[in-house]
Amino acid sequence: MGSFILLSLLPLLVTGIISYSESGKSIENNARIFSTEIVKQVAKNVQLQMAQVESDSQALVLSDDVQSGLLRYAGENDAERVRARADMTKILLDAYGSFDYINQKYFLGTDMKIMDAQVFPQLSAAVVRLVEHATGPKGRPYWTTLDVFGGDKSIVMLRDIYFKANGRGAGSLFLGVDQSHFAGVFDNVDLGSGSGISVLDSRTGSVLLKTASKSAIAATTTPDQTLLDDIRSSLAQRRSVGFLIYDVKSVANTQDNPSGKYVAAYAQIPRTSWFVVSSIPYGNLLSEAKSVRNQIILIGLLCFAASIVLAYLISRSISTPLEELIDSMKQAEKGNYAIRMTQEGDDELSTLSQQFNDMATKIAQEHERLEERVGERTRDLEEANHKLASLSLTDGLTGIANRRHFDTVLLAELHRAARTGKPLALMMLDVDFFKNYNDHYGHQEGDVCLRKVARLMQSHARRASDLVARYGGEEFVMLAVDTDAASAMGLAEGIRGALEALALPHAKSPLAVGCVTTSIGVAVLIPDDEQTAEMFIRMADKAMYRAKEQGRNQVVMFGRDTTTTLSPA
Ligand code: GH3
Ligand code: MG
Ligand code: MG
Repeated sequence: MGSFILLSLLPLLVTGIISYSESGKSIENNARIFSTEIVKQVAKNVQLQMAQVESDSQALVLSDDVQSGLLRYAGENDAERVRARADMTKILLDAYGSFDYINQKYFLGTDMKIMDAQVFPQLSAAVVRLVEHATGPKGRPYWTTLDVFGGDKSIVMLRDIYFKANGRGAGSLFLGVDQSHFAGVFDNVDLGSGSGISVLDSRTGSVLLKTASKSAIAATTTPDQTLLDDIRSSLAQRRSVGFLIYDVKSVANTQDNPSGKYVAAYAQIPRTSWFVVSSIPYGNLLSEAKSVRNQIILIGLLCFAASIVLAYLISRSISTPLEELIDSMKQAEKGNYAIRMTQEGDDELSTLSQQFNDMATKIAQEHERLEERVGERTRDLEEANHKLASLSLTDGLTGIANRRHFDTVLLAELHRAARTGKPLALMMLDVDFFKNYNDHYGHQEGDVCLRKVARLMQSHARRASDLVARYGGEEFVMLAVDTDAASAMGLAEGIRGALEALALPHAKSPLAVGCVTTSIGVAVLIPDDEQTAEMFIRMADKAMYRAKEQGRNQVVMFGRDTTTTLSPA
């Protein structure tokens, strides 16, 4: 259960990780678009300022005063030339005297000499050198920089002047423009703390203009070489805009060049080797995003922890009762119906537990009832079996043992007597003239008579081990263990005499006594392995027939040589 919940959280986790890594990329992308736009805009503004200076100066060089002055300066008349020089200087003063951002302004003749006589020779030489090396499209102003005293740089616009009349070269105009004139272009540009924006000359690697910030790399006097190389390669490929992320190694001027990762965008100012460069420390760029991201991570982790706790609670509230239920069911399966669930409440699991308890109670009751019924049935069955067993061993008419029972007991007693070496006696009894009895009194009466004979014989059994059985028809047997010939003869005679004494009337008996009598054959032996039950029965049977032959109502002992005959007195 718990693992299932954790598994379902996995997609959330993966999405979180992906968006985390994507956020860095999108921040970089936004920074690229944003800072590129800014440098392009600033470059455009700088260009506008330059265009202003250019158009003002164009009007000046095409003015009649300037044209005539230059014409006179180009003439042969020396005095006129001196006057022209003074005039030209005055024209410049009139034109730019009120422009405080124009800090240097000189006309040069075709002879490459500054017309203003007041200029220091040193400056004059530098200006002339600059004009000589100025290379730009013919007739268009050329922008460059001039090192001035104190290590500062002056921004310079140079333009060739031509005579309107014949288009021939007439001289040059040199204007030194103060940096403050361009400062306005940075006014409304803020890229955040630690960031900077500047204009640098890719040709010399020097910074022309910069924002007030001291900490930004692009605002330093020495731009990073990686940045410079990138700008120069863009220039070579005629790309006017670029963007790069680069590392600044710690350099000597550490205060101005904090080392670390930077994001820079640059845009060229057309017709110059100058580039507007913006620079933002990478850390600044990401810091805000990072704090948002860290909050997201924190919330994510809290959610994750909460879901683990939830998973644990759910698994405890579902799995534990379920496990208990399964355990209880197994117990019940094994026959422990006393087991009960402990769950309490009104949720589904508690209902289930209650139902299980009810079921277990019912099963237990049912089980008890079943066991009782099985016990009852078993007792009935045992009784029936017992009855059946005794029935199978009892003679239905007389209630004494039947022939089958006798056969079994005889076999067992023969074995036992063979083992113990004690004599075993068998008496075979047959009612005399019973056919006549039946014929005269009826079969029913015959049955009554047989029952009486059986009861009488039974009453003569002395020991529990003595067995009286109905052998068949009106023939009975008695088996007496540990009984010698004399005792057996006494026993048989006792029975015969008792029956005679009972004096059951037998009207059709040819005998003089006129009542029911019996002939008994007796056999006694200590059996050995050779003697069988059949032989033993035959012996008694033979003796019984001898008794019949000798006149009935007597006992005859079976013997090889002699047959003992006992007659009634
Ligand atoms: P004896 O033995 O003295 O030679 O003469 P007997 O008449 O007894 O001769 P036998 O043994 O041949 O006759 C037996 C008679 O016993 C025949 C039959 O009618 C009768 N009998 C046999 N079994 C039953 C019985 O179960 N009930 C009745 N009522 N009579 C039986
Ligand atoms: Mg008979
Ligand atoms: Mg008979």
